[in-house]
Amino acid sequence: MASYDLVVIGTGPGGYVCAVRAAQLGMKVAVVEKNPTLGGTCLNVGCMPSKALLHASEMFEEAAHSFAKMGVSVSAPKLDLPSMMNFKQQGIDGNVKGVDFLMKKNKIDVLKGAGKILGAGKVEVSANGSTQTVETKNIVIATGSDIARLKGIEIDEKRIVSSTGALSLEKVPERLLIIGAGVIGLELGSVWKRLGAEVMVVEFLDRILPGMDGEIAKQFQRILEKQGFAFKLGTKVTAVDTSGKTLLAKVEPAAGGASETIEADVVLVAIGRVPFTDGLGLKEAGVALDNRGRVQIDPHFATTVKGIYAIGDVVAGPMLAHKAEDEGVAVAEIIAGQAGHVNYDVIPGVVYTTPEVSSVGKTEEELKQAGIAYTVGKFPFTANGRSKVNQTTEGFVKILADAKTDRVLGVHIIGREAGEMIHEAAVLMEFGGSAEDLARTCHAHPTRSEAIKEAALAVGKRAIHM
Ligand SMILES: Cc1cc2nc3c(=O)[nH]c(=O)nc-3n(C[C@H](O)[C@H](O)[C@H](O)COP(=O)(O)OP(=O)(O)OC[C@H]3O[C@@H](n4cnc5c(N)ncnc54)[C@H](O)[C@@H]3O)c2cc1C
Repeated sequence: MASYDLVVIGTGPGGYVCAVRAAQLGMKVAVVEKNPTLGGTCLNVGCMPSKALLHASEMFEEAAHSFAKMGVSVSAPKLDLPSMMNFKQQGIDGNVKGVDFLMKKNKIDVLKGAGKILGAGKVEVSANGSTQTVETKNIVIATGSDIARLKGIEIDEKRIVSSTGALSLEKVPERLLIIGAGVIGLELGSVWKRLGAEVMVVEFLDRILPGMDGEIAKQFQRILEKQGFAFKLGTKVTAVDTSGKTLLAKVEPAAGGASETIEADVVLVAIGRVPFTDGLGLKEAGVALDNRGRVQIDPHFATTVKGIYAIGDVVAGPMLAHKAEDEGVAVAEIIAGQAGHVNYDVIPGVVYTTPEVSSVGKTEEELKQAGIAYTVGKFPFTANGRSKVNQTTEGFVKILADAKTDRVLGVHIIGREAGEMIHEAAVLMEFGGSAEDLARTCHAHPTRSEAIKEAALAVGKRAIHM
């Protein structure tokens, strides 16, 4: 029987990164993966394919609407959807191959098949009717998440799709109805809107992007409406009639009331994701779940069974690839006897639309609720030189700092490249920096990042360009 220091079940960003870090620390490591390819949700049906389609569709949109005003005259772009899907697939393949390479480079055994925990120290791997059992000192569960479903609405991945189906539609739907105004719904809505679909988003809550700063979310909604998105907030979809050529979605106010029917060609169910623990044998092994079906862990990622740990989407916390990666590194270091740690107060979040939305730290709503006195500094991209010359002036930077100490508690950006810009705020916050630290840091001119410096100056009411 093969024997390891660590067996990681699942090769998403949590699992494969954990395996690499453990191998770097001298452990003998194997990963178990039930999918034909490594990389998990993120590489195969999540972050990577969605970003490839967001990029390609943005170029399509720019060629049609932005080139001419810059004096670049091209004939109207034509959509070749199969080629766009091929572009997406090449991106996936390249990244998946990269993970294969990392496994080889770090001498990590890849055990293809479904992993089941037989108890502390034993993992069974089954594929195509055959099984093997391996021994291991430690197990990390990194089995990720699955799409959340709506009762009574059957996903067929053709007409009623999850994010997975929405990444591979064979033609642009005339009318796309999206259930859920979260990150995934708005990103995929943007892709199909740019390619020609009419997009309507139905959201149960009375706002979009729940959890993000309310002021930013409001501005974002206005921008998306200008792009042609239609929103029905405080509304729920209760059924979808699939009997005819056109889908008929029954919607009603979230609080109850008269229902109406919305016609659509494709319905995207994007109401979130749920932890995935099917077939792992957790109950028999004594690994407890919390009340939301996530693997229960202590602050050191240890489950209720000694030698078994869990990380990523399958445990509590934001379902984000970089959170899973950082937990993967931390748990490998803890197993190796080091002090692995993740700072959950500084995990950036990004919506990769145009404009992008990014945030790190506390929202204004969270600070109010916690009773923390804060000061706000804001700076619009309309007053940023680089944004003006590029004519991409939508959005603003918002910095929230502690009223007493000036320590930065949250940064929220809506605007082009916001997803890249957020990281200087993350580094500042990791070091417990103040708005004044940020304001006194020299920023290259002309860059969009100067808007962050100006927002930091605005915390002290001394922005220069406003
Ligand atoms: C459309 C979409 C877009 C997204 N975009 C972003 C983004 O831009 N940025 C971001 O940070 N996050 C994004 N996410 C979320 C991100 O994909 C997840 O947070 C991340 O993949 C979680 O990583 P993980 O390692 O915990 O699990 P996963 O990536 O879900 O990987 C789990 C792996 O475990 C395997 N597995 C499960 N059970 C078993 C078993 N019993 N035996 C063997 N293998 C098993 C699965 O096959 C899978 O490969 C997106 C998600 C979606 C759906």
